[in-house]
Amino acid sequence: MFSDELERLRQENLLRRVCDRDLEATTARILINGAEYINFSSNDYLGLASHPSITEAAKRAIDGYGLGSGASRLLSGGTELHGKLERMAAEFKGTEAALVFNSGYTANISAIPSIAGAIAGKGDVIFSDEFNHASIIDGCRLSKAKKVIYRHRDTSHLSELIKKEEGKRKIVITDTVFSMDGDIAPLKEISDICREHNAIVYIDDAHGTGVLGDGRGALEHFGIKPEPWPNAQIIQMGTFSKALGSYGAYIAADRDVIEWLINTARGFIYSTALPASIIAASIEALQILQKDTILVKKLWQNRERLLKGIRELGFDTMNSETPIIPIIVGDMETTLKFSELLTKHNIYAPAIRPPTVKIPRIRITVTASHTEEDIDKLLDVLSKITQ
Ligand SMILES: *Cc1c(COP(=O)(O)O)cnc(C)c1O
Repeated sequence: MFSDELERLRQENLLRRVCDRDLEATTARILINGAEYINFSSNDYLGLASHPSITEAAKRAIDGYGLGSGASRLLSGGTELHGKLERMAAEFKGTEAALVFNSGYTANISAIPSIAGAIAGKGDVIFSDEFNHASIIDGCRLSKAKKVIYRHRDTSHLSELIKKEEGKRKIVITDTVFSMDGDIAPLKEISDICREHNAIVYIDDAHGTGVLGDGRGALEHFGIKPEPWPNAQIIQMGTFSKALGSYGAYIAADRDVIEWLINTARGFIYSTALPASIIAASIEALQILQKDTILVKKLWQNRERLLKGIRELGFDTMNSETPIIPIIVGDMETTLKFSELLTKHNIYAPAIRPPTVKIPRIRITVTASHTEEDIDKLLDVLSKITQ
């Protein structure tokens, strides 16, 4: 039975394969089966995953606390480092408090159902951008709230839909940077609409943290200050697993929201705490980011160089505004072939297909670790392939 289904996926060019790497020295290089590629697929935007002071911090924490954490936070799994990271994340995001989750996926599938639909009889309504990340979609599915999907970044559509739900508790959820398109949600308009309709804004800043607003994230980028509730009801989710080069995630918000999550978010309550080594790495990464924005500047310089080159070659890069640059090359088969050709030229940039996206594309992410030569090599290969 499964073999027939798998064969169907194969026929439709939809079969996915795991592609594990060998030892890797930097973010910009990847070794697979002994061959070396320039890696344009990593979300480690600042190259922090292999930063020596971060890996050292993790090693020291293993020596001090051991490896596994042994229990959930509500039992005995937490360490003083967990609390320290939460205070740092809250300060970094300008909120009263923060809570660490084991991953971004866990944060969304746990926090969304506990924020929306968890209080019986309130008739909560979630408004979700149609291109939101799968973990948000799953969080919405687990929530007992009513779900309303608005067109991608379309604030007049959102406005129209939100007016129909007067009197209900409302939560608007959006990615800040859309992970497959590289465009940015219009947060200023969204937060104005939410203020007008007394709705909660829940942002997923997985690709904004460390990238936008000098690394502080999407709110900083738009100059939105998280005011105390109930003036502005903003809940910020973000991850340590992308630009911060570590692992895990956080929700930063008002103290009451965080306490509510501690009491109701199932992925927080019923899962073993992250190991201290990972927490120590995230602490060090946040410190590096707060001390110096040189890596963020390098990231954006690289992004400008690459985007300019790709556009000069005549590719459709959709509405990319960030280091995530999709390039549209054709149907599914063409996109897969294109990705294979890139691999032949030692460039690693995978094809992204349905159901992750509607329109197949090559998704390129550029990082602070790429050199100008790496970027020029990619541009050279792109121009050769299209000739
Ligand atoms: C990657 C991602 C997540 C999941 O984060 P993990 O830490 O990888 O589980 C959630 N939301 C968005 C928008 C993402 O891109």
